[in-house]
Amino acid sequence: MDQRFDVVIVGGGMVGAALACALAESDLSIALLEREYPQAFSPEQPHDLRVSALSLASENLLRHLGAWEGIQSRRLCPYRRMRVWEADDHRAATEFDSEGIGQPYLGHIVENRLVQLALLERAQQMSGIDLICPARVDSIDYSPGASVVTLEGGREIVGRLLVAADGGNSRVRDAAGIGVHKWDYDQYALVASVETGYEQQDITWQQFTPTGPLAFLPLDGPNASLVWYNTPNEARRLMDLPETAFMSELIATFPERLGRIDRLVERGFFPLRRQHAQHYCAEGVVLAGDAAHMIHPLAGQGVNIGFLDVAVLAEELLDAHCAGEAIDSLATLKRYEKRRRRHNLLMMQTMDAFYRVFSNDAAPLKLLRNLGLGAAEKLPFAKKRVMQFAMGLEGDLPALAR
Ligand SMILES: Cc1cc2nc3c(=O)[nH]c(=O)nc-3n(C[C@H](O)[C@H](O)[C@H](O)COP(=O)(O)OP(=O)(O)OC[C@H]3O[C@@H](n4cnc5c(N)ncnc54)[C@H](O)[C@@H]3O)c2cc1C
Repeated sequence: MDQRFDVVIVGGGMVGAALACALAESDLSIALLEREYPQAFSPEQPHDLRVSALSLASENLLRHLGAWEGIQSRRLCPYRRMRVWEADDHRAATEFDSEGIGQPYLGHIVENRLVQLALLERAQQMSGIDLICPARVDSIDYSPGASVVTLEGGREIVGRLLVAADGGNSRVRDAAGIGVHKWDYDQYALVASVETGYEQQDITWQQFTPTGPLAFLPLDGPNASLVWYNTPNEARRLMDLPETAFMSELIATFPERLGRIDRLVERGFFPLRRQHAQHYCAEGVVLAGDAAHMIHPLAGQGVNIGFLDVAVLAEELLDAHCAGEAIDSLATLKRYEKRRRRHNLLMMQTMDAFYRVFSNDAAPLKLLRNLGLGAAEKLPFAKKRVMQFAMGLEGDLPALAR
């Protein structure tokens, strides 16, 4: 027995779940397939390793979808200030403060699981969405207008439009024969979730060192997420150290302003890859989020641009549907691609430039970044632009992100 839907979304992570909610205001029938339901929340749980800095544009989208409440009622941390500086030159430093642009904060740090949980809860409340979870995909047969996702056990889900929201190793993208341009950065992100000696912080900071930046992201209460960008070999060595030896290296390497570390909650590492799909669509199939693009996390933009994909894709699909056009036609899907691919490519190239300039000990680059950081501090206009970028408020925003 097969079940037919207008839209079949494979992947109910942050991006896929948000897209389902954004489309559910229409009469389209939507299937949302997710491999694993996130663990339920309870306040005494330690903070997860996977966290994201969400921009104001992402918050706007989540508010429109009715999911922000579900995040706020659990836990999140607003950050008001951002500081970046060079390890061996404290004059090369810039601090950004949301007060300078009359805003209460620049963004929030949120655990990915809680964003996903809040979105999936919303999806379950919406009559147009069938959440199929846990979904174990056996095979995907891409066929424009009637793609079939077969689950283990033989259940068949047929979709007029198939959406790849299944992350960087997307099976949907492969099934549709859409290739990627990719390379591995010679860098891993080693992430440590810790308890600090501060009651609460409102600043996120990054210190640049020759092997890569060291970053601090505040979480609610004394908790924080540390990101130690390093060469793959160093990251593996650090991961293999016993906890006390790891803590000693952490304390010796991170700057003094990190303060006391009372407890290491968890650590893990993530190989960093840059990947961009050659196309975001073909007839009857479309890509969003990490399935379409993976970027260096140094400026915390990956899911923020994924949410912008959601806002634009939902807008184009709903407009086409209202106008009586086919939601799965190449013409409809290309309008989405046109609005997002170039923007995402630009973001990727900017992150590449940051990676090259800020993970390098070559004297000319060092001089360039020191001059840049020193100059930025004295240029209110430049600082305002950077803050608008961090808040996701640059450019022509889709309605759902405003
Ligand atoms: C170290 C690090 C730090 C980061 N920090 C930030 C940050 O501060 N800000 C930011 O914006 N971004 C950040 N990112 C990027 C961000 O984590 C990703 O962009 C985001 O998770 C992508 O979401 P997604 O829903 O597209 O994909 P994913 O998070 O990969 O979700 C895919 C979902 O699909 C499901 N799935 C996969 N295959 C199947 C299948 N066959 N069947 C059913 N379900 C399936 C998975 O279970 C998963 O739930 C960071 C990334 C890293 C590595």
